[in-house]
Amino acid sequence: MTIKTILTEPNKILRQISKPVEKVGKEEQILMDDMLETMYNAKGIGLAAIQIGIPKRIIVLDISKEENDKTPMFFVNPVVKNKNIELSTYEEGCLSVPNQFAEIDRPSECKVEYLDYNGEKKFLEAKGLLATCIQHEMDHLEGILFIDYLSKLKKTMIIKKLSKQKGKADRIVV
Ligand code: ZN
Repeated sequence: MTIKTILTEPNKILRQISKPVEKVGKEEQILMDDMLETMYNAKGIGLAAIQIGIPKRIIVLDISKEENDKTPMFFVNPVVKNKNIELSTYEEGCLSVPNQFAEIDRPSECKVEYLDYNGEKKFLEAKGLLATCIQHEMDHLEGILFIDYLSKLKKTMIIKKLSKQKGKADRIVV
């Protein structure tokens, strides 16, 4: 397993729409392993393939938060079949929007159809944190970030801040 570099906003790649996976083969499984390792290393609970620059409709999640009892979940080509109209609010962050958090409303439950790590068709009824995480990650597949739900002013401020941080990281004085 390899830890990959997580792309951060602003980055045009994060705005791409990811393509469906035709078949879950060895290549996709290696990608899922790498994504999981990358996510754990960054202390995240979810990661979409596009966040490491691969425009495939693949998501990994682990909301267990247990160091010794890891419960990874893999979603290939996830499709939301049904959303609850009732909303729930979580303070969201994102590995691609480092150190920024905001309260976001999303449907509190959703039903998702997807392929698992072995390419088998699965169906999941997600609630609470899991439902929020799946929806957050599925947004990545459409090139959407959680900051897109904020007011234009807030979003601009966050992107400016992130651009500044990036500028600093690249600056070398010798
Ligand atoms: Zn994210």
